[in-house]
Amino acid sequence: MDTVFSPGAPPADTRTNLIGLSREALTAALLEVGQKPFRAKQVWHWLYHRGATSFAAMTDLSKDLRTKLEDHFVVSRPGISREQTSSDGTRKWLMEFADGQKAETVFIPDIDRGAVCISSQVGCTLTCRFCHTGTQRLVRNLTPAEIVGQFMVARDSYGEWPTPTDERRMLSNIVLMGMGEPLYNFDNVATAMKIVMADDGIALGKRRITLSTSGVVPEIHRAGAELGVNLAISLHAPDDDTRSMIMPINKKYPLKELMQACRDYPGASNARRITFEYVMLKGINDTTAHARALMKLVKGIPCKFNLIPFNPWPGTPYECSDAATVEGFSQTLFEAGFSAPIRTPRGRDILAACGQLKTDSEKLSAREKRLRESEAAWAEKEAALG
Ligand code: SAH
Ligand code: SF4
Repeated sequence: MDTVFSPGAPPADTRTNLIGLSREALTAALLEVGQKPFRAKQVWHWLYHRGATSFAAMTDLSKDLRTKLEDHFVVSRPGISREQTSSDGTRKWLMEFADGQKAETVFIPDIDRGAVCISSQVGCTLTCRFCHTGTQRLVRNLTPAEIVGQFMVARDSYGEWPTPTDERRMLSNIVLMGMGEPLYNFDNVATAMKIVMADDGIALGKRRITLSTSGVVPEIHRAGAELGVNLAISLHAPDDDTRSMIMPINKKYPLKELMQACRDYPGASNARRITFEYVMLKGINDTTAHARALMKLVKGIPCKFNLIPFNPWPGTPYECSDAATVEGFSQTLFEAGFSAPIRTPRGRDILAACGQLKTDSEKLSAREKRLRESEAAWAEKEAALG
């Protein structure tokens, strides 16, 4: 199923969007228009518990107050440029932001729960060789409103408002595994996740949030100390040579430093393990020797592995390891006492699987360029015709 929406041009609006403001910032914004802090609490409840999309919906505020709020503020979500649903139920949204930039959000449903995979940047500064997003240059960081807004739009899509109890949530987890490197946009990611975690709103616990990083060592500790979320590391190789070849960031933060950051990660324990993601690349990182080296590397770190069959994308130089190789790799780790499930690829038919996300900002600009060229050619012809 593939639905194309017309996003509509965002109005030129100078009013402040209340979505994405930290609680302190929301309280301060309302104070500025003469509203006491208890009003901020009420508005917060409407925004994040009830999912209100307008002030008109906030029925326990007086009409005068609603009008006043409307004069100064908006409640604005990202627009949906495109929504696709895979044959396996995975849903992908191409979100459009006020400046026309786009990023993708994916919902991966399970039987009675599911994870929303959220983007943190448009594009990525890093250039991991196996990653589709990595072929798109960084356009910009997403704002807190755009990050929390992705989750809110996903919940709108499933009608999951007001916030249900934990047992009844379909959108039960967040994985920061979409486009971009969340630790290169930590402040905005942190503001957004604190909003998501606040228990009088969306109320998603820190244990239901997983932040995935390619290994930005200096920021890893902050993620643990300030947010306390689960940590996933895109490891993908057990030695510096292989890792630097497929993930250039490894030259800056080599494995020794990365493993130390994992050892120091606040809250890591056997009950709360660090996940090492490992994409299976044929002939690159998939031998039994690699598996053995991996076990040695992570010694002493409470961890589990997540083996990701490589998801191909147009123009990629890599292939996925054979199914038997992936199975054998998993078995080798398992026999040594590691949990190493093979991640089932989801949403491959709509390019929603790991590492396949890429918005067409570059393609669009190429098309725009062609359009402009042909317009210029027409203008020339018309001029020549007199
Ligand atoms: N930038 C962060 C967050 C993105 S998470 C990070 O790299 O961790 C996306 C996950 O999918 C990462 O583990 C990434 O390494 C992995 N990935 C990237 N390209 C992939 C591909 N083509 N096939 C399978 N997994 C891929
Ligand atoms: Fe960026 Fe992560 Fe892709 Fe690497 S794997 S290019 S860090 S999004």
